[in-house]
Amino acid sequence: MSGIIEGETGSWEMVIGLEVHAQVTANSKLFSGAPITFGGEPNTQVSLVDAAMPGMLPVLNEYCVEQAIRTGLGLGAQINRLSVFERKNYFYPDLPQGYQISQYAHPIVGKGEIEIDLPDGTVKSIGVTRLHLEQDAGKSLHDQHASKTFVDLNRSGQALMEIVSEPDMRSADEAAAYVRKLRTILRYLGTCDGNMDEGSMRCDVNLSMRRPGEPFGTRCEIKNVNSIRYIQAAIEYEARRQVDVLEEGGKIAQETRLWDTRQHVTRSMRSKEEAFDYRYFPDPDLLPLELDEQVIERVKNSLPELPDAKKKRFIGDYGLSPYDAGVLVAEQTRAEFYERVLAGKRDPKITANLLITELLGGLNKGGHDIDDSPISADALGELIDLLADNTISGRIAKDVFAEMFATGKGAAAIVQEKGLRQVTDTGAIDAVIDAVIAKNQDKLAEYRSGKDKLFGFFVGQVMKESGGKANPALVNQALKAKLAG
Ligand code: ADP
Ligand code: MG
Repeated sequence: MSGIIEGETGSWEMVIGLEVHAQVTANSKLFSGAPITFGGEPNTQVSLVDAAMPGMLPVLNEYCVEQAIRTGLGLGAQINRLSVFERKNYFYPDLPQGYQISQYAHPIVGKGEIEIDLPDGTVKSIGVTRLHLEQDAGKSLHDQHASKTFVDLNRSGQALMEIVSEPDMRSADEAAAYVRKLRTILRYLGTCDGNMDEGSMRCDVNLSMRRPGEPFGTRCEIKNVNSIRYIQAAIEYEARRQVDVLEEGGKIAQETRLWDTRQHVTRSMRSKEEAFDYRYFPDPDLLPLELDEQVIERVKNSLPELPDAKKKRFIGDYGLSPYDAGVLVAEQTRAEFYERVLAGKRDPKITANLLITELLGGLNKGGHDIDDSPISADALGELIDLLADNTISGRIAKDVFAEMFATGKGAAAIVQEKGLRQVTDTGAIDAVIDAVIAKNQDKLAEYRSGKDKLFGFFVGQVMKESGGKANPALVNQALKAKLAG
């Protein structure tokens, strides 16, 4: 959908900037040794530091710092040799310290960019303003008791990367493409698992409307939207709401809103006047973070091939269309599976076709991806080999695939068991053709009197009679001769 809304008084354009919180993949928290695994019993992964006991001191987790550097490099961003941890002060029942350790004026990562792939096949570059490291808060549980709220501190102190974009996006589709691409990159890098339904990646949406070409308007921020579908829906709703206000001559009040997942509306949470004054100041318990050029170099040398580079290589080396290459590199596991099937010897286009249309198409119906494939890369390779050496036709290959998908059986076994070998014996093909012609004397006469289109009819009949097993090229050849008489 386009980001332009046609109002009563003319067009309005969406301006969108996103702040994404990504949980850092690590074994322990940002400033403590407490372990972090999703779904642990409440308050079992809490050290004295995370519970903010008096006198506890934070100790910076080097691995989390490396993960932030890795992410920055993956986003083509500037890594700041000096950054500073500051205290962001506010009260919340699930924030025992009474402040969050975050970065503010001096983040660890500066400007970068992300190339997003749009539905129409074009690519657009979105600016990344900064990435900083901060602690996550605990969780308040409101659904455990009728009148009490419980607090779970397992998440307290986990490392987050806050990744802030420039206000470069102009539609809900662009915002969705940005989050998708960012998630793909983080997964390739292994710095965040990107599971939005487990809260490992959360998004704040900033949105304002303007007349195309005019300066930016006043924005609202929609907090903590936790799925790509909701991000799109929240943007569409909020844009319409702002246009209605503006068209009636009203002004947008800068405020924080939330997305109501039940009513599918955004609601005001707090206005600018009620905004927190966080009183940031450098945390006296932590030294400024100085990075060694060698550490940055080492991380740089350990980066994997990233999705954009992989896509270019798939297009260049394998002759794939940008669309097919895009589908395959969207998940690292898909790209790996694809290259495992190829094994350096199979046809890249036939393989991509079967993998995307049949395998991913079939998996997608059940909401699955390649990790859940009932067919291994080797097994799919075997099917492609049967196709390549003409043991089976393309049409039969689809049936064999369906059987493999449903039963997990091997291609050769299915072909053997069901007698699906392609018929290349010209004597047998001739016999079928003769029978078809004998049954369709009227059609034969019409064909001979100039109705060429009937050729297709005869091909269809012969293929049908042979149970789809006759070699199509041989059928064409023999039919032409026989029909000519
Ligand atoms: P704050 O410090 O209040 O969070 P920032 O300047 O850091 O404000 O911006 C937060 C987010 O809002 C960024 O992603 C930025 O791109 C986006 N943003 C800034 N101005 C606008 C605007 N006029 N319309 C839409 N988004 C905006
Ligand atoms: Mg901000």
